[in-house]
Amino acid sequence: MDYQKPKGTADLLPGTTGLWEKVEANAREVFREFGYRGIRTPMFEDYNVFSRNVGDTSDIVEKEMYDFHDKGDRHIALRPEGTAGVVRAYVENKLYGPEYPKPYKVYYMGPMFRYERPQSGRQREFHQIGVEALNNESPQIDVEVIAMAMTLFKRFGVPNVKLTINTLGDKQVREDYRQALIDYLKPHYDELSKDSQDRLYRNPLRVLDSKDAGDQKIVANAPSILDYLDDESQAYFDQVQSLLKQLGIDYEIDTNMVRGLDYYNHTIFEIMSDSPVFGGGYTTVCAGGRYNGLIKQLGGPEEGGIGFGMGVERLMLLLQQENPEFAPQDSLDVFFASADDQGDALAFDLLNKIRQQGIVADKDYSGVKVGKQIKEAFRRNAKYFAVFGGREVDEGKFELKNAATKGSVEIAVDDFATDPAKYLK
Ligand code: ATP
Ligand code: MG
Repeated sequence: MDYQKPKGTADLLPGTTGLWEKVEANAREVFREFGYRGIRTPMFEDYNVFSRNVGDTSDIVEKEMYDFHDKGDRHIALRPEGTAGVVRAYVENKLYGPEYPKPYKVYYMGPMFRYERPQSGRQREFHQIGVEALNNESPQIDVEVIAMAMTLFKRFGVPNVKLTINTLGDKQVREDYRQALIDYLKPHYDELSKDSQDRLYRNPLRVLDSKDAGDQKIVANAPSILDYLDDESQAYFDQVQSLLKQLGIDYEIDTNMVRGLDYYNHTIFEIMSDSPVFGGGYTTVCAGGRYNGLIKQLGGPEEGGIGFGMGVERLMLLLQQENPEFAPQDSLDVFFASADDQGDALAFDLLNKIRQQGIVADKDYSGVKVGKQIKEAFRRNAKYFAVFGGREVDEGKFELKNAATKGSVEIAVDDFATDPAKYLK
């Protein structure tokens, strides 16, 4: 029997994990600078955490969820996104209490699951790095979250990304706009794609987001939400824009941009790249927005929140194409070869001693010919290497060879064991 990974999943092998770990380490550093702390919530939740009302028409909830009944007949879903679980944890642990910081700022990194048609940059198990700032309703926080996302791209050495923003207004604005959209789209009903026809009355905003070329033509002349903003929503959006300008963050407004989940309002944003690695056009690598009703929907107080999720697989494609130098080089400070059993025993002992002092070191374990062992030292990118045999054991000294310069120095074994860093510069 041939065992294979499930469709739409990937094995991340050691050749790749170095880059992933470096990306994660850089992201943690940026989050710390902005005052965000890590949160880890379950990979699966009660189905209702993600599907909160029957009218939810997002593809993610309607079609893409991995859900099942467990042995205790609980309806469970693998998380398709990070926000709902974090908000559930926030409410369940009463993190809105007076003893906690406000806003309550957290980040997470981990796998998400969506039943989708796999293709480049689209998997069934994929990873997101995300943040949430809960318990606030301030344009400053919106801009902080956007600025933090942009900082990440800078830190990764891929600053050529495009920021697009939009507003969905508040509940009333959305209601008014929804009706205007239906009125506009109704006469075009027969020309719309099947999906968009389905959505027309249930969630017309989603029609704006259609990937169908025919739909896009119709939608191009649709009324803009910006014409339906009330004074408060308009003022909020104006403030977000003026703060972005203040921070020198370039952006475009795309009034046809909506989000794949139904809980968003006010500010939404996407960070996109037109790198050739995505095969033409803009691809969204990071997406986020404000969700002022969600905390209450999940049983908490009436408070707002905002966050984003960054698609790590897409980020990796972008990084490998646009900044390949970012990938860390695997290397060793020193590699030990041995010519006989006596030398091998000394190498083993020395290896253990220098590792205790933070030296990145390895040795041969195969017992092949010395020449082959030295080849391995080069293959592993060892900066230095040494060969141990009976003579080195008897004399208590050895030759430390510099792999780059080919020069060597003779060192007493005991001196090296006491202060290896002195010789491994
Ligand atoms: P799309 O329109 O590409 O399906 P989405 O609106 O469903 O995206 P979000 O729910 O906003 O995506 O998720 C945020 C980010 O997570 C996306 O911008 C993308 O980078 C990444 N992402 C979403 N779904 C997948 C997937 N199936 N595989 C890999 N990355 C994904
Ligand atoms: Mg999607």
